[in-house]
Amino acid sequence: MALLELKNVSLIYHSHDGETEALSDISLEVASGEFVAIVGPSGCGKTTLLSILAGLIAPSDGEVLVKGRPVGEARNVTALMPQRDQLFEWRSIYRNVLLGPEIKRNKDKEICAYADELLTKYGLGEFRKKRPSELSGGMRQRAALIRTLVTKPELLLLDEPFSALDFQTRLTVCDDVERIIREEGKTAVLVTHDISEAISMSDKVVVLSSRPACVEKIYDITLDKSIPPLKRREQKSFPVYFRSIWKDMEAPNE
Ligand code: ADP
Ligand code: MG
Repeated sequence: MALLELKNVSLIYHSHDGETEALSDISLEVASGEFVAIVGPSGCGKTTLLSILAGLIAPSDGEVLVKGRPVGEARNVTALMPQRDQLFEWRSIYRNVLLGPEIKRNKDKEICAYADELLTKYGLGEFRKKRPSELSGGMRQRAALIRTLVTKPELLLLDEPFSALDFQTRLTVCDDVERIIREEGKTAVLVTHDISEAISMSDKVVVLSSRPACVEKIYDITLDKSIPPLKRREQKSFPVYFRSIWKDMEAPNE
């Protein structure tokens, strides 16, 4: 059974000036342990789709199942990492990482130990007491990821997590984030408008059309996953995927 299943999901926003159709008949499956990237042009409905996967908004039509049950019933299975790192400057890195458990009032010894373990394992042990502004962009992103991991979700939802970073940092953070997610054995859905990022990090790329988003195509990425994403960009089939997805995204929406 797939960890995540979307069946014919559509979404229409209703507002004062009328209706906006954001998603149209989207069906998709994500297997446990899979890393799925979703690409699509800006404004096509990617954040909307992630919000639905996170159970934050209900689809107008269709259903979303997590482990075979409606997404609303699947508490603590998924965690959403937002577009900006949203670390709070008045808290230390350690206390930022423990923000979720603190709000949910389930911060216990075990969670604190796990937070410590992750921070140390991923090179932030010495920065526990620092404030976010004392860290580089890449480190902040790692801290934000650790904050998402601390509640032990099975499924991570990442919304353009690298968009605030400069190009160079972005490349190394992609490597970091991909490695951490795979090492921790998580399932991930990454939304991005960056085709190279999608191909280099994932097992599967889902290409969305422009708004209202529907699934244009799905690619199985057969690059060598034993090497880091940045290195995967040098593999022969990388530009082949790139050109093909580029074309899909150029295609007019019918
Ligand atoms: P993306 O993340 O791909 O850039 P979004 O999912 O944020 O796209 O938005 C898709 C479309 O839905 C856009 O046209 C946007 O203006 C519209 N939209 C997003 N959120 C709302 C909302 N809360 N109410 C009305 N329209 C919205
Ligand atoms: Mg968005």
